[in-house]
Amino acid sequence: MSTTNVTGQAIVLGGSIGGLLAARVLSESYAKVIVFDRDELPAEAVDRKGVPQSGHAHGLLARGRQILEELFPGLTADLTAQGAAAIDIQRDCVWVNDGHRIPRVASGLEGLCVSRRALEAYVRERVRALPNVEVRHGCEALGLLTDADGGTVTGARILPRGGREERHATDLVVDATGRGNRGPTWLAELGYQPPVEDRVDPQTVYVSRDYRRIPGETNFAAVLCSPSPAAPYGGVAISAEGDRWMVTLLGVGADQAPPVDPEGYLAFAGRLPAPELHALLSRAEPLGPPKRMRLPTSVRRRYEHLARLPEGFLAVADAICSFNPAYGQGMTVAAAEAMVLRDCLRQGRRGLPRRFFAAAAKVVDVPWDMAVGGDLRHPTVVGPRSRRTRFLNGYVTRLHVAAARHPVVGRRFLSVANLMTPPPGLFAPGIVARVLWSGRRATPPVVPVVPPARVEELVAP
Ligand SMILES: Cc1cc2nc3c(=O)[nH]c(=O)nc-3n(C[C@H](O)[C@H](O)[C@H](O)COP(=O)(O)OP(=O)(O)OC[C@H]3O[C@@H](n4cnc5c(N)ncnc54)[C@H](O)[C@@H]3O)c2cc1C
Repeated sequence: MSTTNVTGQAIVLGGSIGGLLAARVLSESYAKVIVFDRDELPAEAVDRKGVPQSGHAHGLLARGRQILEELFPGLTADLTAQGAAAIDIQRDCVWVNDGHRIPRVASGLEGLCVSRRALEAYVRERVRALPNVEVRHGCEALGLLTDADGGTVTGARILPRGGREERHATDLVVDATGRGNRGPTWLAELGYQPPVEDRVDPQTVYVSRDYRRIPGETNFAAVLCSPSPAAPYGGVAISAEGDRWMVTLLGVGADQAPPVDPEGYLAFAGRLPAPELHALLSRAEPLGPPKRMRLPTSVRRRYEHLARLPEGFLAVADAICSFNPAYGQGMTVAAAEAMVLRDCLRQGRRGLPRRFFAAAAKVVDVPWDMAVGGDLRHPTVVGPRSRRTRFLNGYVTRLHVAAARHPVVGRRFLSVANLMTPPPGLFAPGIVARVLWSGRRATPPVVPVVPPARVEELVAP
Protein backbone atom coordinates (compact mmCIF):
# COMPACT_ATOMS: atom_id res chain seq x y z
CA MET A 1 0.00 0.00 0.00
CA SER A 2 1.33 3.39 -1.00
CA THR A 3 1.44 6.04 1.71
CA THR A 4 1.98 8.97 -0.65
CA ASN A 5 -0.92 11.42 -1.02
CA VAL A 6 -2.84 9.75 1.79
CA THR A 7 -4.75 12.79 2.99
CA GLY A 8 -8.19 13.93 4.03
CA GLN A 9 -11.15 11.94 5.20
CA ALA A 10 -13.85 9.76 3.66
CA ILE A 11 -17.16 8.68 5.15
CA VAL A 12 -18.91 5.46 4.13
CA LEU A 13 -22.64 5.17 4.89
CA GLY A 14 -23.50 1.48 5.38
CA GLY A 15 -21.13 -1.12 6.80
CA SER A 16 -22.16 -4.24 4.91
CA ILE A 17 -20.13 -5.96 2.17
CA GLY A 18 -20.30 -3.00 -0.24
CA GLY A 19 -19.40 -0.39 2.38
CA LEU A 20 -16.62 -2.47 3.91
CA LEU A 21 -14.96 -3.13 0.55
CA ALA A 22 -15.18 0.56 -0.32
CA ALA A 23 -13.63 1.42 3.07
CA ARG A 24 -10.81 -1.04 2.41
CA VAL A 25 -9.75 0.69 -0.81
CA LEU A 26 -10.43 4.21 0.52
CA SER A 27 -8.00 3.48 3.36
CA GLU A 28 -5.21 3.49 0.74
CA SER A 29 -5.99 7.07 -0.28
CA TYR A 30 -7.53 8.82 2.72
CA ALA A 31 -5.85 9.43 6.07
CA LYS A 32 -9.08 8.64 7.88
CA VAL A 33 -12.11 6.57 6.85
CA ILE A 34 -15.25 6.34 9.01
CA VAL A 35 -17.96 3.76 8.30
CA PHE A 36 -21.41 4.42 9.80
CA ASP A 37 -24.05 1.70 10.01
CA ARG A 38 -27.38 1.95 11.77
CA ASP A 39 -27.25 -1.67 13.00
CA GLU A 40 -25.22 -3.01 15.89
CA LEU A 41 -22.19 -4.75 14.35
CA PRO A 42 -20.88 -7.48 16.64
CA ALA A 43 -17.62 -9.31 16.02
CA GLU A 44 -19.49 -12.61 15.64
CA ALA A 45 -21.09 -13.89 12.45
CA VAL A 46 -24.77 -13.24 13.16
CA ASP A 47 -27.76 -12.20 11.07
CA ARG A 48 -28.88 -8.62 11.59
CA LYS A 49 -31.86 -6.46 10.75
CA GLY A 50 -30.15 -4.31 8.12
CA VAL A 51 -29.20 -7.35 6.01
CA PRO A 52 -32.36 -9.48 5.92
CA GLN A 53 -30.93 -11.60 3.09
CA SER A 54 -28.05 -12.96 5.15
CA GLY A 55 -29.99 -16.03 6.29
CA HIS A 56 -30.45 -17.11 2.65
CA ALA A 57 -27.86 -19.14 0.77
CA HIS A 58 -25.25 -16.91 -0.88
CA GLY A 59 -22.86 -18.04 -3.59
CA LEU A 60 -19.56 -16.22 -3.97
CA LEU A 61 -18.49 -16.16 -7.62
CA ALA A 62 -14.92 -17.02 -8.59
CA ARG A 63 -14.18 -13.38 -9.50
CA GLY A 64 -15.50 -12.23 -6.14
CA ARG A 65 -13.30 -14.67 -4.24
CA GLN A 66 -10.29 -13.65 -6.32
CA ILE A 67 -10.78 -9.94 -5.54
CA LEU A 68 -11.50 -10.53 -1.86
CA GLU A 69 -8.30 -12.57 -1.62
CA GLU A 70 -6.37 -9.71 -3.20
CA LEU A 71 -7.85 -7.14 -0.81
CA PHE A 72 -7.55 -9.40 2.25
CA PRO A 73 -4.63 -11.80 1.68
CA GLY A 74 -5.22 -15.08 3.49
CA LEU A 75 -9.05 -14.76 3.43
CA THR A 76 -9.61 -18.12 1.72
CA ALA A 77 -7.32 -19.99 4.11
CA ASP A 78 -8.72 -18.23 7.19
CA LEU A 79 -12.35 -18.90 6.28
CA THR A 80 -11.54 -22.48 5.29
CA ALA A 81 -10.00 -22.92 8.74
CA GLN A 82 -13.34 -21.72 10.14
CA GLY A 83 -15.22 -24.44 8.24
CA ALA A 84 -15.86 -22.81 4.85
CA ALA A 85 -15.05 -24.95 1.79
CA ALA A 86 -12.57 -23.92 -0.91
CA ILE A 87 -13.88 -25.58 -4.05
CA ASP A 88 -13.45 -25.98 -7.78
CA ILE A 89 -16.64 -24.46 -9.13
CA GLN A 90 -17.21 -27.10 -11.82
CA ARG A 91 -15.78 -30.25 -10.24
CA ASP A 92 -17.24 -29.81 -6.77
CA CYS A 93 -20.72 -28.52 -7.64
CA VAL A 94 -23.78 -30.09 -9.21
CA TRP A 95 -24.98 -27.59 -11.84
CA VAL A 96 -28.31 -28.19 -13.55
CA ASN A 97 -29.49 -25.59 -16.08
CA ASP A 98 -32.79 -26.11 -17.93
CA GLY A 99 -32.61 -29.71 -16.74
CA HIS A 100 -29.13 -30.27 -18.24
CA ARG A 101 -26.25 -31.03 -15.91
CA ILE A 102 -22.73 -29.75 -16.49
CA PRO A 103 -20.11 -32.53 -16.34
CA ARG A 104 -18.14 -32.36 -13.12
CA VAL A 105 -14.51 -31.94 -14.16
CA ALA A 106 -11.77 -29.68 -12.81
CA SER A 107 -12.07 -26.15 -14.19
CA GLY A 108 -9.53 -24.09 -12.27
CA LEU A 109 -12.36 -21.75 -11.24
CA GLU A 110 -11.81 -21.34 -7.52
CA GLY A 111 -14.83 -20.73 -5.32
CA LEU A 112 -15.57 -20.54 -1.63
CA CYS A 113 -18.65 -21.95 0.07
CA VAL A 114 -19.34 -19.75 3.08
CA SER A 115 -22.35 -18.09 4.63
CA ARG A 116 -22.95 -14.41 3.93
CA ARG A 117 -22.87 -13.66 7.66
CA ALA A 118 -19.47 -15.35 8.16
CA LEU A 119 -17.98 -13.61 5.13
CA GLU A 120 -19.22 -10.21 6.26
CA ALA A 121 -18.01 -10.74 9.84
CA TYR A 122 -14.55 -11.73 8.57
CA VAL A 123 -14.29 -8.78 6.19
CA ARG A 124 -15.55 -6.43 8.91
CA GLU A 125 -12.87 -7.53 11.38
CA ARG A 126 -10.15 -7.15 8.72
CA VAL A 127 -11.40 -3.65 7.93
CA ARG A 128 -11.69 -2.77 11.61
CA ALA A 129 -8.04 -3.79 12.01
CA LEU A 130 -6.91 -1.18 9.48
CA PRO A 131 -5.28 1.61 11.50
CA ASN A 132 -6.99 4.47 9.69
CA VAL A 133 -10.52 3.01 9.53
CA GLU A 134 -13.16 3.39 12.21
CA VAL A 135 -16.45 1.44 12.05
CA ARG A 136 -19.25 3.06 14.07
CA HIS A 137 -22.44 1.10 14.63
CA GLY A 138 -25.87 2.28 15.77
CA CYS A 139 -25.51 5.39 13.57
CA GLU A 140 -28.18 6.17 10.99
CA ALA A 141 -27.37 8.32 7.95
CA LEU A 142 -30.00 11.01 7.47
CA GLY A 143 -28.69 13.00 4.52
CA LEU A 144 -25.86 14.96 2.95
CA LEU A 145 -24.27 18.36 3.60
CA THR A 146 -23.05 20.67 0.82
CA ASP A 147 -21.00 23.82 0.37
CA ALA A 148 -22.70 27.18 -0.22
CA ASP A 149 -23.29 26.74 -3.96
CA GLY A 150 -24.31 23.10 -3.59
CA GLY A 151 -21.66 21.88 -6.04
CA THR A 152 -19.77 19.72 -3.58
CA VAL A 153 -20.96 17.32 -0.91
CA THR A 154 -19.06 18.30 2.22
CA GLY A 155 -20.37 15.89 4.79
CA ALA A 156 -23.17 13.73 6.12
CA ARG A 157 -25.88 14.04 8.74
CA ILE A 158 -25.72 11.17 11.21
CA LEU A 159 -28.10 10.20 14.01
CA PRO A 160 -26.47 8.04 16.69
CA ARG A 161 -28.97 5.74 18.41
CA GLY A 162 -30.48 7.51 21.40
CA GLY A 163 -28.51 10.68 20.58
CA ARG A 164 -28.87 13.90 18.58
CA GLU A 165 -28.14 14.54 14.95
CA GLU A 166 -24.44 15.10 14.23
CA ARG A 167 -22.93 16.86 11.22
CA HIS A 168 -19.73 15.23 9.99
CA ALA A 169 -17.59 17.25 7.60
CA THR A 170 -15.56 15.17 5.14
CA ASP A 171 -13.91 15.13 1.70
CA LEU A 172 -15.92 12.22 0.29
CA VAL A 173 -19.23 10.52 1.15
CA VAL A 174 -19.90 7.02 -0.19
CA ASP A 175 -23.48 5.72 -0.08
CA ALA A 176 -23.35 1.97 0.59
CA THR A 177 -26.73 1.66 2.27
CA GLY A 178 -27.96 -1.14 0.02
CA ARG A 179 -30.97 -1.67 -2.19
CA GLY A 180 -33.31 0.43 -0.03
CA ASN A 181 -30.94 3.40 -0.03
CA ARG A 182 -32.08 7.02 -0.08
CA GLY A 183 -29.18 8.42 -2.12
CA PRO A 184 -31.44 9.66 -4.95
CA THR A 185 -33.69 11.41 -2.40
CA TRP A 186 -30.68 12.97 -0.70
CA LEU A 187 -29.48 14.31 -4.05
CA ALA A 188 -32.97 15.67 -4.82
CA GLU A 189 -32.97 17.48 -1.45
CA LEU A 190 -29.85 19.29 -2.64
CA GLY A 191 -31.50 20.32 -5.92
CA TYR A 192 -30.06 17.55 -8.14
CA GLN A 193 -32.00 15.32 -10.51
CA PRO A 194 -32.20 11.80 -9.10
CA PRO A 195 -30.76 9.14 -11.44
CA VAL A 196 -33.06 7.39 -13.89
CA GLU A 197 -33.84 3.86 -12.69
CA ASP A 198 -34.09 0.69 -14.80
CA ARG A 199 -36.38 -1.78 -13.05
CA VAL A 200 -37.32 -5.42 -13.55
CA ASP A 201 -39.43 -7.39 -11.10
CA PRO A 202 -38.14 -10.99 -11.14
CA GLN A 203 -41.40 -12.19 -9.54
CA THR A 204 -39.41 -14.59 -7.43
CA VAL A 205 -39.98 -15.98 -3.95
CA TYR A 206 -37.17 -17.57 -1.94
CA VAL A 207 -37.77 -20.00 0.89
CA SER A 208 -34.63 -21.01 2.77
CA ARG A 209 -33.84 -23.52 5.44
CA ASP A 210 -30.64 -24.68 7.12
CA TYR A 211 -29.80 -28.35 7.65
CA ARG A 212 -27.10 -30.16 9.59
CA ARG A 213 -24.24 -31.30 7.37
CA ILE A 214 -22.16 -34.33 8.15
CA PRO A 215 -18.68 -33.58 6.77
CA GLY A 216 -17.72 -35.98 3.98
CA GLU A 217 -21.28 -37.26 3.50
CA THR A 218 -21.52 -36.05 -0.12
CA ASN A 219 -19.26 -35.90 -3.14
CA PHE A 220 -20.33 -32.30 -3.85
CA ALA A 221 -20.09 -29.02 -1.96
CA ALA A 222 -23.05 -27.34 -3.62
CA VAL A 223 -26.07 -28.04 -5.80
CA LEU A 224 -27.30 -25.27 -8.09
CA CYS A 225 -30.44 -25.95 -10.10
CA SER A 226 -31.72 -22.94 -12.01
CA PRO A 227 -35.31 -22.29 -13.04
CA SER A 228 -36.22 -22.48 -16.72
CA PRO A 229 -39.23 -21.12 -18.60
CA ALA A 230 -40.65 -24.65 -18.83
CA ALA A 231 -39.98 -25.46 -15.18
CA PRO A 232 -39.92 -22.07 -13.39
CA TYR A 233 -38.59 -23.31 -10.08
CA GLY A 234 -35.14 -24.07 -8.77
CA GLY A 235 -33.00 -24.51 -5.72
CA VAL A 236 -29.53 -24.34 -4.29
CA ALA A 237 -27.78 -26.05 -1.42
CA ILE A 238 -24.46 -24.63 -0.32
CA SER A 239 -22.25 -26.18 2.31
CA ALA A 240 -21.28 -23.62 4.91
CA GLU A 241 -19.20 -23.33 8.05
CA GLY A 242 -20.75 -24.68 11.22
CA ASP A 243 -21.42 -28.03 9.51
CA ARG A 244 -24.57 -26.78 7.81
CA TRP A 245 -26.22 -26.83 4.44
CA MET A 246 -27.83 -23.55 3.50
CA VAL A 247 -30.71 -24.44 1.21
CA THR A 248 -32.84 -22.04 -0.81
CA LEU A 249 -35.76 -23.13 -2.99
CA LEU A 250 -37.26 -20.59 -5.35
CA GLY A 251 -40.11 -20.14 -7.76
CA VAL A 252 -40.56 -17.58 -10.54
CA GLY A 253 -44.12 -16.27 -10.78
CA ALA A 254 -46.81 -15.68 -8.20
CA ASP A 255 -48.12 -19.26 -8.36
CA GLN A 256 -44.69 -20.91 -8.16
CA ALA A 257 -43.63 -19.91 -4.62
CA PRO A 258 -42.14 -22.78 -2.61
CA PRO A 259 -44.27 -23.78 0.39
CA VAL A 260 -43.09 -22.92 3.89
CA ASP A 261 -44.48 -26.01 5.60
CA PRO A 262 -41.79 -28.70 5.97
CA GLU A 263 -43.65 -31.43 4.04
CA GLY A 264 -44.51 -29.09 1.17
CA TYR A 265 -40.94 -27.82 1.16
CA LEU A 266 -39.53 -31.32 0.76
CA ALA A 267 -42.09 -32.18 -1.92
CA PHE A 268 -41.16 -29.01 -3.84
CA ALA A 269 -37.49 -30.10 -3.80
CA GLY A 270 -38.63 -33.41 -5.29
CA ARG A 271 -39.88 -31.60 -8.43
CA LEU A 272 -36.42 -30.28 -9.29
CA PRO A 273 -34.25 -31.93 -11.95
CA ALA A 274 -31.50 -32.21 -9.32
CA PRO A 275 -32.50 -35.25 -7.25
CA GLU A 276 -29.38 -34.75 -5.11
CA LEU A 277 -31.16 -31.82 -3.50
CA HIS A 278 -34.23 -33.85 -2.62
CA ALA A 279 -32.03 -36.68 -1.36
CA LEU A 280 -30.13 -34.26 0.85
CA LEU A 281 -33.26 -32.73 2.31
CA SER A 282 -34.82 -36.14 2.87
CA ARG A 283 -32.15 -37.26 5.24
CA ALA A 284 -30.54 -34.14 6.71
CA GLU A 285 -31.68 -32.77 10.07
CA PRO A 286 -33.36 -29.36 9.72
CA LEU A 287 -31.90 -26.62 11.91
CA GLY A 288 -34.95 -24.36 11.99
CA PRO A 289 -38.12 -23.57 10.11
CA PRO A 290 -38.17 -22.48 6.42
CA LYS A 291 -37.88 -18.67 6.00
CA ARG A 292 -39.67 -16.90 3.15
CA MET A 293 -38.56 -13.79 1.25
CA ARG A 294 -40.28 -12.20 -1.75
CA LEU A 295 -37.46 -10.73 -3.79
CA PRO A 296 -37.68 -7.01 -4.31
CA THR A 297 -37.56 -5.45 -7.76
CA SER A 298 -34.11 -5.38 -9.39
CA VAL A 299 -33.07 -1.74 -9.74
CA ARG A 300 -30.23 -0.14 -11.66
CA ARG A 301 -29.65 3.56 -10.91
CA ARG A 302 -28.03 5.33 -13.86
CA TYR A 303 -25.81 7.84 -12.03
CA GLU A 304 -23.48 7.79 -15.04
CA HIS A 305 -26.19 9.46 -17.16
CA LEU A 306 -26.75 12.44 -14.85
CA ALA A 307 -25.91 15.78 -16.44
CA ARG A 308 -25.13 17.31 -13.03
CA LEU A 309 -23.40 15.47 -10.23
CA PRO A 310 -21.98 16.97 -7.05
CA GLU A 311 -18.30 16.45 -6.28
CA GLY A 312 -17.59 14.45 -3.15
CA PHE A 313 -20.42 11.90 -3.47
CA LEU A 314 -20.40 8.28 -4.70
CA ALA A 315 -22.72 5.30 -4.43
CA VAL A 316 -21.53 1.68 -4.53
CA ALA A 317 -22.79 -1.91 -4.64
CA ASP A 318 -26.55 -2.44 -4.22
CA ALA A 319 -27.02 1.33 -3.88
CA ILE A 320 -26.11 1.53 -7.60
CA CYS A 321 -27.56 -1.75 -8.76
CA SER A 322 -29.39 -4.54 -6.96
CA PHE A 323 -29.78 -7.68 -9.05
CA ASN A 324 -32.00 -10.69 -8.99
CA PRO A 325 -29.85 -12.69 -6.56
CA ALA A 326 -30.55 -15.96 -8.38
CA TYR A 327 -27.36 -15.25 -10.36
CA GLY A 328 -25.25 -14.76 -7.22
CA GLN A 329 -23.62 -11.57 -8.46
CA GLY A 330 -24.18 -8.87 -5.80
CA MET A 331 -21.11 -9.37 -3.63
CA THR A 332 -18.83 -9.95 -6.62
CA VAL A 333 -20.03 -6.77 -8.31
CA ALA A 334 -19.47 -4.89 -5.04
CA ALA A 335 -15.91 -6.26 -5.04
CA ALA A 336 -15.32 -5.34 -8.70
CA GLU A 337 -16.60 -1.81 -8.04
CA ALA A 338 -14.17 -1.51 -5.14
CA MET A 339 -11.32 -2.28 -7.56
CA VAL A 340 -12.66 0.35 -9.96
CA LEU A 341 -12.77 2.88 -7.11
CA ARG A 342 -9.19 2.06 -6.26
CA ASP A 343 -8.12 2.61 -9.89
CA CYS A 344 -10.03 5.91 -10.10
CA LEU A 345 -8.42 7.17 -6.88
CA ARG A 346 -4.98 6.27 -8.17
CA GLN A 347 -5.63 8.74 -10.98
CA GLY A 348 -6.46 11.51 -8.49
CA ARG A 349 -9.57 12.98 -6.93
CA ARG A 350 -10.52 15.54 -9.56
CA GLY A 351 -13.84 14.60 -11.16
CA LEU A 352 -13.93 11.39 -9.12
CA PRO A 353 -17.74 10.88 -9.13
CA ARG A 354 -18.11 11.17 -12.89
CA ARG A 355 -15.10 8.93 -13.57
CA PHE A 356 -16.19 6.38 -10.98
CA PHE A 357 -19.83 6.14 -12.07
CA ALA A 358 -18.77 5.76 -15.72
CA ALA A 359 -16.32 2.96 -14.86
CA ALA A 360 -18.73 1.28 -12.42
CA ALA A 361 -21.42 1.24 -15.14
CA LYS A 362 -19.08 -0.87 -17.28
CA VAL A 363 -18.67 -3.30 -14.37
CA VAL A 364 -22.44 -3.51 -13.93
CA ASP A 365 -23.34 -3.84 -17.64
CA VAL A 366 -22.49 -7.54 -18.00
CA PRO A 367 -24.06 -8.92 -14.81
CA TRP A 368 -27.13 -6.70 -15.25
CA ASP A 369 -27.63 -7.89 -18.84
CA MET A 370 -27.13 -11.49 -17.77
CA ALA A 371 -29.56 -11.24 -14.86
CA VAL A 372 -32.25 -9.28 -16.71
CA GLY A 373 -31.83 -11.46 -19.81
CA GLY A 374 -32.30 -14.53 -17.60
CA ASP A 375 -35.37 -13.02 -15.93
CA LEU A 376 -36.91 -12.17 -19.30
CA ARG A 377 -36.73 -15.80 -20.40
CA HIS A 378 -39.74 -16.23 -18.12
CA PRO A 379 -43.00 -15.10 -19.74
CA THR A 380 -44.36 -13.98 -16.35
CA VAL A 381 -41.60 -11.36 -15.97
CA VAL A 382 -42.52 -7.99 -17.44
CA GLY A 383 -39.88 -6.07 -19.40
CA PRO A 384 -38.76 -5.05 -22.87
CA ARG A 385 -37.58 -8.03 -24.94
CA SER A 386 -35.39 -6.66 -27.68
CA ARG A 387 -34.33 -8.76 -30.66
CA ARG A 388 -30.89 -9.02 -29.03
CA THR A 389 -32.41 -10.33 -25.77
CA ARG A 390 -34.40 -12.95 -27.68
CA PHE A 391 -31.34 -14.01 -29.70
CA LEU A 392 -29.13 -14.31 -26.61
CA ASN A 393 -31.75 -16.24 -24.66
CA GLY A 394 -32.21 -18.63 -27.56
CA TYR A 395 -28.45 -19.13 -27.73
CA VAL A 396 -28.17 -19.70 -23.97
CA THR A 397 -30.93 -22.33 -24.14
CA ARG A 398 -28.90 -24.27 -26.73
CA LEU A 399 -25.71 -23.65 -24.80
CA HIS A 400 -27.12 -25.45 -21.76
CA VAL A 401 -27.75 -28.50 -23.96
CA ALA A 402 -24.19 -28.37 -25.30
CA ALA A 403 -22.72 -27.83 -21.82
CA ALA A 404 -24.15 -31.16 -20.71
CA ARG A 405 -22.24 -32.93 -23.51
CA HIS A 406 -19.02 -30.96 -23.64
CA PRO A 407 -17.18 -30.12 -20.41
CA VAL A 408 -15.35 -27.32 -22.25
CA VAL A 409 -18.67 -25.59 -22.99
CA GLY A 410 -19.72 -26.04 -19.37
CA ARG A 411 -16.45 -24.54 -18.25
CA ARG A 412 -16.81 -21.54 -20.54
CA PHE A 413 -20.38 -20.95 -19.38
CA LEU A 414 -19.30 -21.09 -15.73
CA SER A 415 -16.33 -18.83 -16.41
CA VAL A 416 -18.62 -16.18 -17.92
CA ALA A 417 -21.27 -16.63 -15.22
CA ASN A 418 -18.53 -16.25 -12.60
CA LEU A 419 -17.43 -12.98 -14.22
CA MET A 420 -13.98 -14.38 -15.00
CA THR A 421 -14.40 -14.26 -18.79
CA PRO A 422 -16.26 -11.55 -20.75
CA PRO A 423 -19.44 -12.76 -22.52
CA PRO A 424 -17.88 -12.77 -26.02
CA GLY A 425 -16.11 -15.92 -24.77
CA LEU A 426 -19.43 -17.71 -25.26
CA PHE A 427 -19.14 -17.01 -28.98
CA ALA A 428 -15.61 -18.32 -29.54
CA PRO A 429 -15.59 -20.59 -32.62
CA GLY A 430 -15.03 -23.84 -30.71
CA ILE A 431 -17.95 -23.03 -28.42
CA VAL A 432 -20.37 -21.84 -31.12
CA ALA A 433 -19.76 -24.99 -33.18
CA ARG A 434 -20.60 -27.26 -30.24
CA VAL A 435 -23.63 -25.17 -29.29
CA LEU A 436 -25.07 -25.23 -32.79
CA TRP A 437 -24.40 -28.93 -33.27
CA SER A 438 -25.87 -29.94 -29.88
CA GLY A 439 -28.82 -27.61 -30.36
CA ARG A 440 -29.73 -29.36 -33.64
CA ARG A 441 -30.06 -32.69 -31.94
CA ALA A 442 -31.82 -32.01 -28.68
CA THR A 443 -34.44 -29.84 -27.10
CA PRO A 444 -34.23 -29.02 -23.42
CA PRO A 445 -36.01 -31.44 -21.13
CA VAL A 446 -38.81 -29.94 -19.08
CA VAL A 447 -39.03 -32.67 -16.48
CA PRO A 448 -36.34 -34.15 -14.23
CA VAL A 449 -33.80 -35.93 -16.43
CA VAL A 450 -32.57 -38.24 -13.70
CA PRO A 451 -35.17 -40.59 -12.23
CA PRO A 452 -35.39 -40.53 -8.45
CA ALA A 453 -32.64 -42.83 -7.23
CA ARG A 454 -31.63 -44.15 -3.89
CA VAL A 455 -30.49 -41.46 -1.50
CA GLU A 456 -27.18 -43.17 -0.79
CA GLU A 457 -26.24 -43.31 -4.46
CA LEU A 458 -27.02 -39.67 -5.07
CA VAL A 459 -25.12 -38.20 -2.18
CA ALA A 460 -22.37 -40.78 -1.79
CA PRO A 461 -18.99 -39.24 -1.03
C1 LIG B 1 -32.29 -13.17 -0.99
C2 LIG B 1 -30.95 -12.65 -1.49
C3 LIG B 1 -29.98 -13.56 -1.87
C4 LIG B 1 -28.76 -13.10 -2.35
N1 LIG B 1 -27.84 -14.01 -2.79
C5 LIG B 1 -26.65 -13.57 -3.24
C6 LIG B 1 -25.66 -14.50 -3.67
O1 LIG B 1 -25.89 -15.70 -3.72
N2 LIG B 1 -24.45 -14.00 -4.05
C7 LIG B 1 -24.17 -12.66 -4.04
O2 LIG B 1 -23.05 -12.27 -4.39
N3 LIG B 1 -25.09 -11.77 -3.65
C8 LIG B 1 -26.31 -12.18 -3.25
N4 LIG B 1 -27.23 -11.27 -2.85
C9 LIG B 1 -26.88 -9.83 -2.87
C10 LIG B 1 -25.97 -9.45 -1.71
O3 LIG B 1 -26.56 -9.78 -0.48
C11 LIG B 1 -25.64 -7.94 -1.76
O4 LIG B 1 -25.27 -7.60 -3.07
C12 LIG B 1 -24.49 -7.62 -0.83
O5 LIG B 1 -24.94 -7.78 0.48
C13 LIG B 1 -23.92 -6.21 -0.99
O6 LIG B 1 -24.87 -5.33 -0.59
P1 LIG B 1 -24.59 -3.90 0.02
O7 LIG B 1 -23.41 -3.87 0.91
O8 LIG B 1 -24.64 -2.92 -1.06
O9 LIG B 1 -25.94 -3.68 0.87
P2 LIG B 1 -26.56 -4.52 2.04
O10 LIG B 1 -25.86 -5.80 2.25
O11 LIG B 1 -28.01 -4.54 1.81
O12 LIG B 1 -26.26 -3.62 3.32
C14 LIG B 1 -26.71 -2.32 3.49
C15 LIG B 1 -26.13 -1.81 4.81
O13 LIG B 1 -26.50 -0.45 4.98
C16 LIG B 1 -26.99 -0.25 6.30
N5 LIG B 1 -27.92 0.87 6.23
C17 LIG B 1 -29.07 0.95 5.52
N6 LIG B 1 -29.60 2.19 5.65
C18 LIG B 1 -28.76 2.90 6.44
C19 LIG B 1 -28.75 4.25 6.92
N7 LIG B 1 -29.71 5.12 6.60
N8 LIG B 1 -27.73 4.62 7.70
C20 LIG B 1 -26.72 3.75 8.03
N9 LIG B 1 -26.69 2.49 7.62
C21 LIG B 1 -27.69 2.05 6.81
C22 LIG B 1 -27.63 -1.60 6.67
O14 LIG B 1 -27.69 -1.78 8.07
C23 LIG B 1 -26.65 -2.57 6.01
O15 LIG B 1 -25.57 -2.86 6.85
C24 LIG B 1 -28.48 -11.69 -2.40
C25 LIG B 1 -29.47 -10.79 -2.01
C26 LIG B 1 -30.70 -11.26 -1.59
C27 LIG B 1 -31.76 -10.24 -1.24
